Amino acid sequence: MNTEPFEQYESEVRSYCRNFPTVFVSAKGSIQKDETGREYIDFFCGSGALNYGHNNPYIKRKVVEYLENDGVLHALDMYTAPKRDFIEYFEQNVIRARGFDYKIQFVGPTGTNAVEAALKLARKVKKRQNVFALMGAFHGMTLGSLALTTNADSRAGAGVPLNNVTHVPAPYMFPGLDTVEYMERLITDDHSGVEKPAAIILETTQADGGIYVLPTEWLQRVRALCDKHDILMIVDDVQVGCGRTGWFFSFERAGITPDIVAMSKSIGGYGMPFAITLLKPELDLWKPGEHNGTFRGYQLSLVAAKAGLEYMLNEHVEDAVREREQIVAKFMREEIEMIDSRIATRGIGLLWGVDFGAFEGDVAKAVITEAFKNGLIVERVGRRDSVVKVMPELKVPLETLEKGLKILAQSIRNVVS
Ligand code: PMP
Repeated sequence: MNTEPFEQYESEVRSYCRNFPTVFVSAKGSIQKDETGREYIDFFCGSGALNYGHNNPYIKRKVVEYLENDGVLHALDMYTAPKRDFIEYFEQNVIRARGFDYKIQFVGPTGTNAVEAALKLARKVKKRQNVFALMGAFHGMTLGSLALTTNADSRAGAGVPLNNVTHVPAPYMFPGLDTVEYMERLITDDHSGVEKPAAIILETTQADGGIYVLPTEWLQRVRALCDKHDILMIVDDVQVGCGRTGWFFSFERAGITPDIVAMSKSIGGYGMPFAITLLKPELDLWKPGEHNGTFRGYQLSLVAAKAGLEYMLNEHVEDAVREREQIVAKFMREEIEMIDSRIATRGIGLLWGVDFGAFEGDVAKAVITEAFKNGLIVERVGRRDSVVKVMPELKVPLETLEKGLKILAQSIRNVVS
């Protein structure tokens, strides 16, 4: 393939384009097409923004209808039909239907906006500055969310100190260390030098950190710790929310209720920029204008978001994920891990990682390059980018799922043997 035309963009367009040197023009469901007509199976899914597939026909129809009827596109904080309809639908059919009670706040177009709003609110409510975050987490690239993120590469461009966060080990990191006890010690020991936090923030499955599913019981203990010490629990569901794990809210698995939830990516339906926070009603201490922004609650995103929720419920997306989870888990165990004993796999729902950290050299990079040559789009995450992330559309047709997994297995074989 001639990649020359891309080299001129190297200094302007960073990262993903280097791994996927072609020009994409269209996409439908799980398939992305480039301008030569070549088709690729997409197991990257906009890093979780495309849970319901590219150009999902149901969502697309709602968006096109809205445009054809000259629906208002931009209205700042004014009331609009899409806003009302989204709030009503989400509250009634998802939030309350699952026994939760949250207010919905529109916070911007992208995931980091949701994290920033959650942080800001927690500090405002508790009048404390410190926040506990987990090592290995990824929460975004603006300064507040970046302060939570421990990945050295992500932090490299910050240029300023990133303060008011205490990082604690994730439960998988140091076998034998009880991280909940460790946190409690930091909170209660007046010689720890650590301010009691306003909040503890976490992803229930660390995604960009390398696909680590945090144990259910551990999540429950963190909830109890927060209750005991008057600390808010924030769950960042930006990447693992919207059904990705087999539950619409990833924390439903643990039967816990966070105080604040950060959501983005697939809450925008099918790739629309949209971010919200869910907050327990008693936390709503915002005064008018205290947290605003021009592209919060963008109308087309609201239309797509409501249609996305309808699709999720009407098409029983969570059930589809659980069915596919079994297929992927079996394939990982019986096909991928069998290729080489140094390969480790782990995951939940339709979010899986193939870990090449035990190999010398950059095997994960070679694997995604080889997979791309063979017609599969996958990305890398985790420590030293050594984990290949497998993240298909949630209702990926079974034959496409199988085909994509086979390409992955063959690509790994081509690289490691
Ligand atoms: N939180 C999590 C868990 C994420 O995975 C991401 C994006 N990968 C973000 C926050 C930030 O979202 P965005 O890139 O849309 O700002």
